[in-house]
Amino acid sequence: MKRIAVLTSGGDAPGMNAAIRAVVRAGIHQDWQVKGVLNGYAGLVSGAMRPLGLRDVGGILWRGGTFLGSARCLDFKTEAGRQQAVDALAAQGVDALVVIGGNGSQTGAHMLSQMGVPVVGIASTIDNDLLGTDMTIGATTALNIALEAIDRLKTTASSHRRAFLVEVMGRDCGYLALAAAIAGGAECVVIPEVETRPEEVAAAVHEAYMRGKPHALVVVAEGAKFDAAEIARHFVDNKADLGFGVRTTILGHVQRGGNPGAYDRLLASRLGVAAVDCLVRGEFGVLVGLRGHTIGTTPLDEIAGRTKPLGPELLRIAPILQA
Ligand code: ADP
Repeated sequence: MKRIAVLTSGGDAPGMNAAIRAVVRAGIHQDWQVKGVLNGYAGLVSGAMRPLGLRDVGGILWRGGTFLGSARCLDFKTEAGRQQAVDALAAQGVDALVVIGGNGSQTGAHMLSQMGVPVVGIASTIDNDLLGTDMTIGATTALNIALEAIDRLKTTASSHRRAFLVEVMGRDCGYLALAAAIAGGAECVVIPEVETRPEEVAAAVHEAYMRGKPHALVVVAEGAKFDAAEIARHFVDNKADLGFGVRTTILGHVQRGGNPGAYDRLLASRLGVAAVDCLVRGEFGVLVGLRGHTIGTTPLDEIAGRTKPLGPELLRIAPILQA
C-alpha cells in the first residue's frame, strides 16, 4: 500500500473534518500518500482529488461540515459511473479508499468493494441510523444543537403557556427526535417508527394542560407520517381543544452546521485511525464503528441498504418520562 484516498459523502455531519484529519495523519504515519477526493462520489467519478499533507488538515478539527465538500451524486448510482470511479482511482495510483458517510454512502462503498476496490467505511451521519455502530459521527453534536433550541423554546413556552411543535431532522429514522424528546423533557414525541395521529398528539397536549403543566413540547421527526406542519394544520382545521396556544418551529439544517463537540471529535479521531488500521492489516470491505466502548468492524454487505432499528430502551422510557 502506497497511496490511499479519503472522501466525505451524503449529508454533512459535524466531525467529518476530524475524521478526515485522522485518516490523513494516520496514513502519513504509515508513510503513505493520502489524497482527498472533492465533493464525495462526484469527485471520485470525475477524478477530482488532491494530495493532503499534515498541514493541510490543520485547523479543521473543530470545524463543522467537511472541507473536502460533499455531494449527492446520481452518476455514481449507475454502473457506468461507478466504473469511471474505479478507473479514476487506478489512473491516480490509489490503492485503497476510505469513505466517510451515512447509509447511502456506505451502500456505494459496498458496491466499490464488490468491484475489487479495497474500501473501508467510517460511520458518519447525524441520523445515527447505520448498522455496525452504536453511534455515528455527528449525531451527538446535532442532538446538542436540537436541545439548545428546545431548552430556549421551553422557556418561552412556559412564560406564555404555549405548546411548541419542534421538528428535528433524521430522515426516516427517529433517533434524533426520540433522544431530543427524552433529553429535552418533551410531553410527546412523533417518530417514523411509531405511527402517531394528530388526534393523539392533540390529546397528549391537552392532557399535559390538564395536569397543570406550564407548557407542552412535542418533538416531531421530519420523516414521521404526519410532520409538524401537518399536525399544526390538523389542530387549526379541527379547532382542537389543547388548552395551550400552539407554535411550530422547524430546526432544519441549523442542526447540522455546528462545530463538533468533544464526543464527536473523539469518535471521529478514533474511527479515522481505526480505518487506517484496517487498511494496514488488509481488512477491506468493512465499516468501522463504535460497539460499546470499543471500535469494531462490520462487513459492508451486512450494512448496505439496511438501517439500524431504534433501541427498545429509549422507546420504553420516553412515555414514562412524559408524565
Ligand atoms: P448518506 O450517505 O448521508 O445516507 P445519501 O443517501 O444521499 O447520503 O448517499 C450519498 C451518495 O451515496 C449518493 O449521492 C450516491 O452517490 C451514493 N449512493 C447512495 N445510495 C447508493 C446506492 N444504492 N448505490 C450506489 N451508490 C449509492
